[in-house]
Amino acid sequence: MNRYQQAQSLMEQGRFIKIVCGAGNEDPIAVRRLSLVYTLAGTSAFDVSANPAIVKSAVDGIDAAFRIAPALNINIEARPFINVSVGLKGDPHARKAQINGEKCIQCDQCREHCDQDAIDKHYSIITPRCIGCGICADNCPSEAITFYHKRVDLSTVLPECIKEGAEMLELHAVTDDDVSVFEDWKIIDMLIPNNYISVCLDRSLLSDTHLTNRIRKLYEITGERLIVQADGAPMSGGNDDYNTTLQAIAIADIVYKSGIPVKILASGGTNAKTQELARLCGVFVNGVSIGTFARKIVKSFINSENFEHDMGNIKQAITIARKLVADSIPK
Ligand code: SF4
Ligand code: SF4
Repeated sequence: MNRYQQAQSLMEQGRFIKIVCGAGNEDPIAVRRLSLVYTLAGTSAFDVSANPAIVKSAVDGIDAAFRIAPALNINIEARPFINVSVGLKGDPHARKAQINGEKCIQCDQCREHCDQDAIDKHYSIITPRCIGCGICADNCPSEAITFYHKRVDLSTVLPECIKEGAEMLELHAVTDDDVSVFEDWKIIDMLIPNNYISVCLDRSLLSDTHLTNRIRKLYEITGERLIVQADGAPMSGGNDDYNTTLQAIAIADIVYKSGIPVKILASGGTNAKTQELARLCGVFVNGVSIGTFARKIVKSFINSENFEHDMGNIKQAITIARKLVADSIPK
């Protein structure tokens, strides 16, 4: 089986589990550690930032997992894929926060709510850690937090990411500007001719009709290699309950019912209940992309200073991660 067929087989069984390190997450240590833990937990893929150094961190984490697997008596069935994400202007996955010191009253609300620990004690953004989720701004009483778009030059950066080990690419296309979507999509389609490429879409700016029309046009370009990452409520999966994952299944249902033969990954509010809710609702998804929740449940272990030298710590992280992966596989 080649790599495309491996991915296809996992998706046809609904077993493609992608751990989202964060399109904006450029913290090499966190990405390496997440990749190590979730490779040992049996995940299928990692989603990382469009940064060759970060792709390398994910590769290093995966390689380290293969090295220590025998000592842990773990058989890793398949090497996870690395997917690189890029975002169009306006997409929250491709932005970074900034704090206006003149407006800030130092109330600490942003720091308390930032899951990425991306705001330092002087109320400056630690840019590599910021994933643009917007939770800080939602909790700021002074409107002191704004965002800027982090655009990468696809034609130069993505080939470098592929050289480092990326096998799939993803375009986050939360915009109503179809022209820019198709311009970027053609570059991505050309760069990965023999594997899946995905478009991440939510309903914040698109009607259901616009959403399915866009998917249909992308399918005309890419055919069966097209994955739609159906993003219910972007970066909102902090809790492990049905309501948190409801919108991920709702948008997956729209794509599913469109009848366009794309692969569908549920995302945006995903957690350990996502696959179960899909089944209860009669919605078939080819897999689940899990970000906020997947990072949150292993955060305390990943943040350990002694992480890679403390096998007990790694084992505990793997046990928790494995349960999430197991819960994300259709029963
Ligand atoms: S809350 Fe989100 S947007 Fe704000 S600093 Fe943290 S990661 Fe960045
Ligand atoms: S929440 Fe707003 S006002 Fe409060 S510390 Fe953060 S940036 Fe400053």
